[in-house]
Amino acid sequence: MLGLMQSQPLLISSLIEFAERHHGDAEIVSRRVEGDIHRYTYRDLAARARRLANALDAQQLQFSDRVATLAWNGYRHMEMYFGVSGSGRVLHTINPRLHPDQIAWIVNHAEDQVLCFDMTFLPLVQAVHAKCPTVKQWVALCDADKLPADSGIPGLLSYEAWIGAQSADYSWPEFDENSASSMCYTSGTTGNPKAALYSHRSTTLHAYAAALPDVMCLSARDSVLPVVPMFHVNAWGIPYSAALTGCKLVFPGPALDGKSVYELIEAEQVTYAAGVPTVWQMLLGHMKPAGLTFSSLKRTVIGGSACPPAMITAFQEGYGVTVLHAWGMTEMSPLGTLCTLKNKHLSLPKEEQMKIVQKQGRAIYGVDMKIVGGDGEELPWDGKTYGDLLVKGPWIVGSYFKGEGGDPLIKDSRGRGWFPTGDVATIDADGFMQITDRSKDVIKSGGEWISSIDIENIAMAHPSIQMAACVGMPHPKWDERPIVAVVKRPGTEVTREELLAFYEGKTAKWQIPDDVVFVDAIPIGATGKMLKTKLRELLKDYRLPGL
Ligand code: AMP
Repeated sequence: MLGLMQSQPLLISSLIEFAERHHGDAEIVSRRVEGDIHRYTYRDLAARARRLANALDAQQLQFSDRVATLAWNGYRHMEMYFGVSGSGRVLHTINPRLHPDQIAWIVNHAEDQVLCFDMTFLPLVQAVHAKCPTVKQWVALCDADKLPADSGIPGLLSYEAWIGAQSADYSWPEFDENSASSMCYTSGTTGNPKAALYSHRSTTLHAYAAALPDVMCLSARDSVLPVVPMFHVNAWGIPYSAALTGCKLVFPGPALDGKSVYELIEAEQVTYAAGVPTVWQMLLGHMKPAGLTFSSLKRTVIGGSACPPAMITAFQEGYGVTVLHAWGMTEMSPLGTLCTLKNKHLSLPKEEQMKIVQKQGRAIYGVDMKIVGGDGEELPWDGKTYGDLLVKGPWIVGSYFKGEGGDPLIKDSRGRGWFPTGDVATIDADGFMQITDRSKDVIKSGGEWISSIDIENIAMAHPSIQMAACVGMPHPKWDERPIVAVVKRPGTEVTREELLAFYEGKTAKWQIPDDVVFVDAIPIGATGKMLKTKLRELLKDYRLPGL
């Protein structure tokens, strides 16, 4: 017997319709590429998203055709999130920090029909447009009078003229909730990038889940600053969860330096901010020497790479801001786990609580996870045993766009498919997952594994260390031994011997790195993560001491 409830597809258009009707006057504030601050409301956004949908119809775009963006976080980008997907097309957010050849490759692979870009990326578009034959319309996200006289891009339109010529009357179409809504290519550290193709259903369910109290805990009382880019897994789904809750949104545009982010947080009384550790490093680096404090910020979600415990302490102890450590991937829309304490942990001493909040956290309802050994057998949840982390759920990829890479799933004894994350982790008895490493970054020493994240976290707890990256170096006896590459904080000093002595008592003796390499910078990839492949290249002539 079937239930007798109404059947209504979960569509992204319903999120913006809801926001317009119930939170029409809630604000969306953006620092623009033009440099000024722009303000409007969800009501304005909804009307302009409908104009955009009409513009796509006028362009003869078909259902599921791809519309790409090369854009910072801002209101026009947000309009595209709803206008493109809501009208049945697929929003393809491209990471502008990729190499131009890679960008051309993914535009062609996605067969993008329209590409909208912020003026910052005009030189990039000038470099790639001739290599992108599928794109029939290039649109600059600006006013008509800001278009350059001769951009060299045939038929280039300004976004404002493009959507301004259209009516704001539009009825969002109804279709299968499993239809594709947006796509995002993985960073592609090996081989060509592959695309996760999200659906309206997966995105809507993820938006509900992300807003839950033990997840991002978003509400109509929040002022939310997504510093995480809208080209990086849909800014962790925040634009959708924001429409669902009616929170105020504050977009930082291209200005991600510590000073600009701090000023925006204060000016817009931001209560909640989301970003990767490298961006928060810049914010804290700006605040500390100037003796600044936050007047409104209460919570920050940090993910994308491991959040160093020293950063959690700096936010919590130094500024009274609760850190929510999160883990996920492009293939997971992206949220998988988030770290919040359970009731029974509230009475624990601070140090014990700190050990928990450093973990990547508990699974969100909708995400099943397990760790397995080399034989594929599930490993115990004891907080010590580590294994390959597998996940499944309704917002996790089943296969990649165009079937690239074949079937990525691993079948269990009941025939259910699990996605291998490529991460190595432990899970404790309370279900708190902790990432030990990317499987390719784990250091194998004498048959035992050393977590590069643990080694980095200890170095970053030293007052003179701004950033640390641990890699394994070949060793004739032990197979590999860890070394740590570090960037010193400006104006501070620390020697190799002092830093190695700092490890004493903080980790097992055999896990202490064999050497410290002082570098000016650690290579950072397109999504703000450390690029260990690049670091290994830089250190290719390095030899361990005594070898
Ligand atoms: P991406 O798909 O580019 O977002 O990369 C996903 C990968 O980033 C994950 O598989 C992890 O290796 C890493 N990652 C994301 N969040 C965290 C975190 N909180 N701690 C450690 N690694 C993380």
